[in-house]
Amino acid sequence: MKSPIHNDQYFYVIPEDVNNRQSVILRGEEAFHCTKVLRKKAGDRFFAVDGSGNEYLVELEEAHKDTVTCHILDSKTRPTELSSDITLAQALIKNDHFDLVVEKCTELGVNTIIPLETERSLADPGKNKFHRWQKIMLSSMKQSRRSVLPRLNEVTPLDELVEKSNHYDVKIIFHEKSDRPVFDFTKNIIMSGTKILVLVGPEGGFTESEHRTAVSHDFISLSLGRRRLRAETAAISAIGIFSNLYTPQNT
Ligand code: SAH
Repeated sequence: MKSPIHNDQYFYVIPEDVNNRQSVILRGEEAFHCTKVLRKKAGDRFFAVDGSGNEYLVELEEAHKDTVTCHILDSKTRPTELSSDITLAQALIKNDHFDLVVEKCTELGVNTIIPLETERSLADPGKNKFHRWQKIMLSSMKQSRRSVLPRLNEVTPLDELVEKSNHYDVKIIFHEKSDRPVFDFTKNIIMSGTKILVLVGPEGGFTESEHRTAVSHDFISLSLGRRRLRAETAAISAIGIFSNLYTPQNT
């Protein structure tokens, strides 16, 4: 009798360590967590995701010093991913608040996060914050049972992003002065496969000229209601709306 899946833990395997859909090799922290922390052993079953949309149901075959070999029992493609590709460009805000945006928007299905530099955003927090956010994305992907590891882009100035934004199908700037509610707009954009770019400002908000620049580059200015939300609240609730709009029906 094969052992059941232990509360379906998820581990990350780099695509190079998936061998012709027969076996996977966990390494480093993933291997350590699997055998030393969770004390998994031969015969145990769990999931391995490669960050590129593949989820593998695997059975532990052999644990070595710092690798774990598992054979693949079954595989699925993007079982929990959204049907559209969402990018959030979030102006740099206090680090722990940005941490929250990264974790919650990863859970909600965002595929790319672009830390945005605007006139009122906080300074670029530097490389080790960047790596910290990547680690948060990795753990949030596994926790939420996603198979896609979101991309974290370099800090990008707003003007540069706006100038190079015409490959997106839908471009939205969330602005507290907008009087156009999201649902007034989303009812006619629910097409799967769309590339959506969402802009959310810093604690001090977008300047009027930043807002004008975005609108002049076909960004649609939408409201999240009459209350003034913190940037992280605006980002998480906005991505939450799109997450539900783009959850494939056949889940
Ligand atoms: N400048 C505002 C606060 C900015 S809130 C003020 O002090 O009055 C930070 C960001 O969250 C804004 O730039 C905007 O992108 C978003 N946001 C906050 N509340 C919002 C709302 N009601 N509608 C749309 N976006 C909102």
